[in-house]
Amino acid sequence: MPDVAVVGSGPNGLAAAVTMARAGLKVHVYEAAPTPGGGLRTAELMEPGHFHDVCSAVHPMALASPFFRQFELSRRISLTVPEISYGSPLVGGRAALAYRSLERTAAGLGRDGGAYHRLMAPLVRRVEGITELTLNQLLRVPRDPVAAAVFGLRTLEQGTRLWDARFREDLAPALLTGAAAHAVAPLPGLAPAGAGLMLGTLAHVGGWPIPQGGSAAIARAMVADIEAHGGVVETGARIGSLAELPPVRATLLDVAPPALLRLAGGRFPGRYRRALEAFRFGNAACKVDFILSGPVPWSAPGLADAGTVHVGGTREEMAEAENLVAAGRHPERPYVLVSQPSRFDAGRAPDGRHILWSYCHVPAGSGVDMAEAVMAQLERFAPGFRDVVIQHRTTTAAGLAEYNENYVGGDFGAGLMDIRGLLRRPVLSPVPWRTPLPGVYLCSSSTPPGPGVTGMPGFHAAKYALADIFKLPVPELAP
Ligand SMILES: Cc1cc2nc3c(=O)[nH]c(=O)nc-3n(C[C@H](O)[C@H](O)[C@H](O)COP(=O)(O)OP(=O)(O)OC[C@H]3O[C@@H](n4cnc5c(N)ncnc54)[C@H](O)[C@@H]3O)c2cc1C
Repeated sequence: MPDVAVVGSGPNGLAAAVTMARAGLKVHVYEAAPTPGGGLRTAELMEPGHFHDVCSAVHPMALASPFFRQFELSRRISLTVPEISYGSPLVGGRAALAYRSLERTAAGLGRDGGAYHRLMAPLVRRVEGITELTLNQLLRVPRDPVAAAVFGLRTLEQGTRLWDARFREDLAPALLTGAAAHAVAPLPGLAPAGAGLMLGTLAHVGGWPIPQGGSAAIARAMVADIEAHGGVVETGARIGSLAELPPVRATLLDVAPPALLRLAGGRFPGRYRRALEAFRFGNAACKVDFILSGPVPWSAPGLADAGTVHVGGTREEMAEAENLVAAGRHPERPYVLVSQPSRFDAGRAPDGRHILWSYCHVPAGSGVDMAEAVMAQLERFAPGFRDVVIQHRTTTAAGLAEYNENYVGGDFGAGLMDIRGLLRRPVLSPVPWRTPLPGVYLCSSSTPPGPGVTGMPGFHAAKYALADIFKLPVPELAP
């Protein structure tokens, strides 16, 4: 009989399971899908020999997060870190490029190089404090108050109409907005500014790594560790109610709040139940994957060597696209996130071929196929792009929701990314991973610190479960 049941094998369910198994407990993971990994899956989506990441592709936070650092992910799998973390193309064959070196980045930003350097240098210097602040529960006293103050002031600047105050040209604003727009929220806004500054800081420190073999390599390393410590990961095992689980001492749920309610089946007190019912989801993604006959013919030099490209034009254009999505509309010129993994991992496509991974933001629940709009945006900054497309495949927001029930309406952030959504995740509490049911914890990205492959929601939930129930300390996670 296991000591611990984990429902869901996304990065957070697996992080929780790793932590509990390493503490010496018998862990059983139940995963509804035929393969483990949740957002960490890589598949031959269109043709054999072409390996696309189904969801997550680029992993700045997997290098920086305390969980993955203690797990020593970079010793277990091969991570390629492109010299250029990301770029933003602009018309006229120009691009803003975020190098791992802040100095080199600033040198490419024209008259705004100094201003960008002054914005980012204090964050880069205090990266430890910034990650400690942003990868934990926000409702607490930060360990490095200076880092928190530096980060807070910059977030206020970049999250409000002051965002252009220090800049004179379009390169630096486009670079910053490309990272901020990951948050799927109106721009400018405090939550996207904070997310963008954190991602930008990581771009200039450890970089934005791409796992060799795709994101599934991360899930495989985690499953291997669980199994090596006596745990079991069972796939094709959808749990419909907590009553279906064996009588374990701790249950960690890598699920979204509506599923948490269903699993508990009326056992939660009214106040908690109402808070879960009121939980707000955000807008969604429409994913478009490609097989190409060659690399993307970017007109701006440098973009071919960028792991990620934020295709949306100027800061104003990206903001307009994101604000249209916030208003429930499908932009004609969407902000498109592009990753070009086969530039850095030859094994992802046969010789001479390339794969491209992209998505754009759309209103929640959308069934609209955005492939034409995505291709038109790419063609704008890479003339001739359509000529290299052999095949494409769209997954609409509605399709994403069907693929993974945690992505309600296609919201892969598993909850709205505004300040309220970050604080009430899923409820306002210093320990939001605990539920009112003794021994039952929520460990998905609907808890702090939220979305992204950080493992932190799972790690936090496991730490509380270990202390509350088993009176055990946090174990060593290194190989
Ligand atoms: C298109 C897309 C692109 C992304 N790109 C990136 C990126 O580049 N970098 C990044 O860091 N993040 C990215 N993300 C976000 C990242 O994938 C998620 O934030 C992360 O996977 C969330 O992890 P999780 O463990 O909370 O949940 P998930 O990864 O969603 O996993 C939840 C798992 O639980 C299972 N489950 C749910 N309910 C049950 C049940 N009742 N019984 C059994 N099993 C159940 C599901 O089948 C699923 O496997 C992307 C997401 C998407 C969709």
